[in-house]
Amino acid sequence: MKVKVAINGYGTIGKRLADAINAQPDMEVIGVTKTRPTFEAKMANLRGFPLYAASKDFVSRFDEAGLETQGTLDDLLPEADIVMDCTPKKMGYKEMYEKLGKKAIWQGGEKHDLTGLSFNAMANYEQAYGAQFVRVVSCNTTGLLRTLYPLYTEYGIDNVLAVMVRRSADPWDTKRGPINAIEPVLKVPSHHGPDVQSVVPELNIQTTAVKVPTTIMHLHSVVVDLKKEVSSEDVIGLWKATPRIIFVSGSEGIKSTAQIMEMARDLCRERGDLYEIAVWDDGVHTVGKKLYYYQAIHQESDVVPENVDAIRSMLEMEEDKLKSMETTDKYIGVC
Ligand code: NAD
Repeated sequence: MKVKVAINGYGTIGKRLADAINAQPDMEVIGVTKTRPTFEAKMANLRGFPLYAASKDFVSRFDEAGLETQGTLDDLLPEADIVMDCTPKKMGYKEMYEKLGKKAIWQGGEKHDLTGLSFNAMANYEQAYGAQFVRVVSCNTTGLLRTLYPLYTEYGIDNVLAVMVRRSADPWDTKRGPINAIEPVLKVPSHHGPDVQSVVPELNIQTTAVKVPTTIMHLHSVVVDLKKEVSSEDVIGLWKATPRIIFVSGSEGIKSTAQIMEMARDLCRERGDLYEIAVWDDGVHTVGKKLYYYQAIHQESDVVPENVDAIRSMLEMEEDKLKSMETTDKYIGVC
């Protein structure tokens, strides 16, 4: 029998999770919520996801637009084994889930304190086993953990310094900027380092961030002080054996995030998404115990597989993280 999943908030992340979850053999989406009858609500209907109004206050909007709903979140939640909360941050649904005794997963816009458990499949799948509430960390934090965690367990890490070159908005979002400026995040260090530590507390890491006028990806420039001297070939070999890291090469014409996204479109996944973290193999360098590398993050999709694994862990469907990751990846098309 498939576990029943509700998606509260069918936006950038919610719609991607709905597709990825429905593609899995052991789970199904039983409904998605929207506050407004936007094109995304229509798309949910077209894709066959039962549509619910997020609350009874919004029902009339859907009626007026002639868009059929199956009821409200109050009708959907009792039927679900777990709810994916993909609403904008601080929407305050926790009490509602608690009252119904439902398990829930939030996204990286929320603070760690909301759940007390922040998740990355490779780093702490086991910790989430049977848990009621989990937060899947943000796209940038997921990216950092994907490449740092294997280094940490294999070689040991003394310290990490990472600069996040952040996309200013998602591609659909015409309201945010900058559109012609570079904006340093003046809160130093940025929140990304502590966010990594919410999953791996012992990892010494400091981060800074800069917003740039692009919508397609984030880029990280990372410098790691390892505990051992290793070669760049060793590091590349380690990452090749790690799920959800993909290599790109400047020598093959991938010199920027633009070409990475072109490659992602060629991979023919849903929406041209790239679930893996893209690392430039010709950008990996070691000098003694110091490691330098660049990686790019598809902000709209790298957290998708982590959410699917979090469901398997919280609902105790699979004890082995690698087996869960393998299943997840197989059904969303990650080799
Ligand atoms: P979004 O704005 O694209 O989507 C949010 C959805 O929630 C919209 O469909 C909106 O209609 C709906 N919504 C708004 N208020 C609601 C309410 N009261 N009840 C139910 N639904 C409501 O936002 P998003 O980018 O998908 O972000 C969702 C979460 O995912 C945030 O925590 C964000 O930080 C995190 N996240 C976003 C990205 C990204 O790049 N977009 C990446 C990783 C994590």
